Amino acid sequence: MSAASKITVDGDGSLSVPDHVTIPSVEGDGVGPDIWKASRAVFDAAVKKIYGGKRAVNWLETFAGEKAFKETGQWLPDATIESIRDYRVAIKGPLGTPIGGGIRSLNVAMRQFLDLYACVRPVRYYEGVPSPLRHPERVNMIIYRENTEDVYAGIEVRADSEEARELAQFIERRLGKSLVHGSAIGIKPMSKFASKRLMKMAMQHALQMKCPNVTIMHKGNIMKFTEGGFREWAYEEAQESFAGKFITEEELTKTGKSPSDFPGELIVKDRIADNMFQQIQTRPAEYSVIATTNLNGDYLSDALAAMVGGLGLAPGGNIGAGIALFEATHGTAPKYAGQDKVNPCSLVLSGKMMFDYLGWQEVGTAIDKAVEKTLADRIVTYDLAREMEGAKEVSCSAFGQELIKRL
Ligand code: NAP
Repeated sequence: MSAASKITVDGDGSLSVPDHVTIPSVEGDGVGPDIWKASRAVFDAAVKKIYGGKRAVNWLETFAGEKAFKETGQWLPDATIESIRDYRVAIKGPLGTPIGGGIRSLNVAMRQFLDLYACVRPVRYYEGVPSPLRHPERVNMIIYRENTEDVYAGIEVRADSEEARELAQFIERRLGKSLVHGSAIGIKPMSKFASKRLMKMAMQHALQMKCPNVTIMHKGNIMKFTEGGFREWAYEEAQESFAGKFITEEELTKTGKSPSDFPGELIVKDRIADNMFQQIQTRPAEYSVIATTNLNGDYLSDALAAMVGGLGLAPGGNIGAGIALFEATHGTAPKYAGQDKVNPCSLVLSGKMMFDYLGWQEVGTAIDKAVEKTLADRIVTYDLAREMEGAKEVSCSAFGQELIKRL
């Protein structure tokens, strides 16, 4: 067996993945160790089953959160960031938010330090899973959420502070708007650069996977320059980089025809955020790829996850230029820590995304099918068992073993 080694990026931006690849892993806090143990067993079994030893993953344990703090006195050691940057693809469990620490959120900090500018969340329905929708099988979307700016930039000043007073004075003097005395103020920066690169990634995915449409979700009717800017820049990127490869909904409407008259054509449209929230519930089949801003994407991801089985099933990846960090999208669920109880699917399916990203799609597909079969056999963890009559409830690790049996 050759030595495990590093991923490199070729001139055209594609990844070169060695057959014996090293991948940093962060088990995370709270329920993190439980779901990581179950997931890792599934990943190793899937890779072995598909490649029979020709390919393998060497997991490199990397520290962040409580474990890092105990070992190094730092919640997010520089060595962790460097390791992910160096090895390019990593996977992590959930991390708690340090109380009173200098870091607002470890997750947000990792995304910003590594410039993981797109948060990618696929949402699909697995047969048998309880859902509040009448036709959950119509949900098959992937959200591309801008991951580095918007209100997450962390530019906020406390009510009654000197900074808030100065900012309020500036706003009054330059913009002629007065704020209620003593207001806290938050800043929402959004750039053409970040909006365009996010849209580019969403469009590339849509074209590569032959998705029927890309929807730009924004709140530009109210926030004209920020959210409205996002909408304008997203369309601009589509025209500049993908001309001739799509049609806008506006153009389509002018023809008087319907999307079914343009088979195989990618349609680009936009929706105001509030409308989008009702559309995903009433007409989910009409949405495929969604490109959106940071805060909108945060809300939308969890709303969509809830429609098809909840956070325990929702995978995610934070992706930049030739670098990616896949993660369970839920938090540390501290009340279940160490109980071997919670659903590992969020991390297992984030692993599926990771293998697809590496170009090891056979592994990703095998994992996805195993999840499909296990849920269809009504073998589930507590979260789904409480909503499913006649289901067999198993522990986190036992669920992982059931997945392995079905690979
Ligand atoms: P949470 O940890 O996501 O848990 C909220 C609830 O979601 C749980 O009580 C549980 O519901 C359900 N849940 C979460 N994970 C599940 C799983 N794997 N299987 C089944 N059910 C699951 O949210 P939180 O309690 O608000 O946050 C706790 C900590 O996590 C905070 O420090 C927060 O900052 C952090 N956090 C981290 C991330 C991340 O690392 N990406 C994301 C979000 C939050 P029931 O009680 O109904 O069983």
